[in-house]
Formats: sequence, C-alpha cells, structure tokens
Amino acid sequence: MKAYRLLEWGRPPELTEVPSPRPGPGEVLVKVAAAGLCHTDLHFGAAPPGAFPYPTPFTLGHEVAGWVSDIGPGAEAIELGLPVVALAHSWCGSCRNCVSGNENYCPHHDSGLGFGEDGGLAECVVVPRHSLVPLNDLDPRAAGQLACAGITAYHAVKRLVGKLVPGSTCVVIGPGGIGAMAVQCLKAMTTARIVVVDVSPARLAYAVELGADLALLADDSLDGELAAATSGLGAEAVLDFVGTQSTVDTALRAAAALGSVAIVGGGGGVAKVSWGTVPRECEIYIPQNGTLTDLREVVALAESGRIRLDSELFSFDQLETAYDALRSGALRGRAMVVMP
Ligand SMILES: [Zn+2]
Ligand SMILES: [Zn+2]
Repeated sequence: MKAYRLLEWGRPPELTEVPSPRPGPGEVLVKVAAAGLCHTDLHFGAAPPGAFPYPTPFTLGHEVAGWVSDIGPGAEAIELGLPVVALAHSWCGSCRNCVSGNENYCPHHDSGLGFGEDGGLAECVVVPRHSLVPLNDLDPRAAGQLACAGITAYHAVKRLVGKLVPGSTCVVIGPGGIGAMAVQCLKAMTTARIVVVDVSPARLAYAVELGADLALLADDSLDGELAAATSGLGAEAVLDFVGTQSTVDTALRAAAALGSVAIVGGGGGVAKVSWGTVPRECEIYIPQNGTLTDLREVVALAESGRIRLDSELFSFDQLETAYDALRSGALRGRAMVVMP
C-alpha cells in the first residue's frame, strides 16, 4: 500500500510503498477514510536528527478516522465496518496516569500514530483497540481532525470551564486550525466573551464566523486594546496557540490575577515566572493533546452540531499541495487527505 513516511530525520518525508499491515493481539486494522495534516508534521519534516525522540522510519498522520477492516486476537469487542476515530498517542492502560484518566501523559509511551509509530497517511493503519472511539453519524473523512485539533482544543478549554463564568473573558491567540476549534469549544462549553488575536484579518474573520465576540489585529495597539476589553483587569483565561516569544509575552500581559494561561503552541517562547512577570496567582499550563474521555466528548460535541468540522479535502496525490497550503496559512478548514 502507499504510505507517506519519514524515512530518517533530516530528510523530507516521502511517498513510498509498504506491505499492508496485519493487526496483532489487542489491535484493529483501520481502513483510513482521511487523515488530517498538522503543523507538527511540518516540524518533523524540517527537524534535524536528535530534535525529536521518535525512531524512524514511520508513517506520518496523527489525525486518523476510518472504518474497522480487520480485528486482531483479543480485540473482538468491535464490529467490522464501524466508523472510528483513533486516539493518536499510545498508552499502557495500567500506570498511575492511565488509570486516573490521564492517558495522554502515560510515561511508558512517548510515541503514537504518526510520531514514532506508523500513522494514518496510508491506506490502512493498525491501532490498539482501546484507542478507538466510534463516530456514529460523523463523516469519517472530516472526523480525523478531532484526534489532534479537536481534542487538543477541547482538553485546554475543559480545564477552564469553572473559571469562564458569565462576564468573564477568554483570549485566543492564533485562531488557526486548533485555535479555531478552541473558539468553537469555548462557545459550546462556556459563557465567556471570546476575544481572538491574530496577524491575519482572514483568520480573524473566520473566528468571528465561528463565534468569537471581538477580533483584534496583533499590532502595536494590541496591549491597550486587550486592557480596554477587560476594563484594565485582564482576561480570566488566555490560550496561546502560537507559543512564540512575542505571543507568550502578550498572553502573560493579557491575563488577570487568578487567571490561567495555556501555552498550547510549541513556538519556542519562554514564560518567565517571577514576581512582576506574571499576574498574582495566575497559573500557566502546557496542555498536550487529550484523553480518551476528551475524544469521546469532543466527538459528541461534533455529533450534536455544536462544533463544525470544516475541511478542505485533498487526494493522496495532492499531498504536497495540501502541505504547501498548510504552510502558507491559506487553509480555511483542516486539510484532510482522503485515501483511495
Ligand atoms: Zn497535530
Ligand atoms: Zn500508562
């Protein structure tokens, strides 16, 4: 079958032929409907050897949905043909983090589909049975984006639900792929006023269409506009989906005392935590992906129509075109690569 693989670090990924995989014990073979493209893939393609801990080669694609097409021994409690989405990161199921429902931080697996293990940019992929969530009525060609963009946004927002009461404000920096999902999750799960910040007027307009209440261009007047938008008190929560030094600094200046700042984007910015650099009792957290429960819940949100799965569909042959569109910021919905 065809698969888009990172053969070794320091070299761009390639479209190659590999043998079709068979599911082992506790595993299921998923015929991929479509896999979503993520900026992480671009980081992998450009990374020098040693930058990431994952052994090569592996097939890219960590936003995977499709249909169950073969069932390994011990994984029988699932039906052939069932539409499913896969939790991307691997988890053991028995460590302290896994049994407490925090399997996204399982210390025994620093890898997953499309990062260190074969992912969904292929016709088929093997997935542990315990990582699959049924899709019911959702279109499997669009639903893969829930496994990274959707779950990451949902997980970051879920932690804030108790804080984002009526009258509160949440600032979303970078309402692109994951940030746009966060705007929708905030709208569906909280009553906060949503303020979006970006350098792109088109992305701001899209965020307003998805439910943002106020859109601010990231320019010299941004700090003053954010202060004015919160009566000088700062925002109860700030979600930074970019994570560069400039956006991290903006996030810390925009937050209120007792507020929360999530640095979701891995742009290399550093938050200096000290007296005077962070508002009093403000928490800073670095959420990564989400749990199986988060995936079930964000699937349910999408099924109920409370979040939209905007997608731009590309064929497998258009993969490089799709990555170019992602790189240039030209996409409106998630780039979904539809498998033959
Ligand atoms: Zn991703
Ligand atoms: Zn574990």
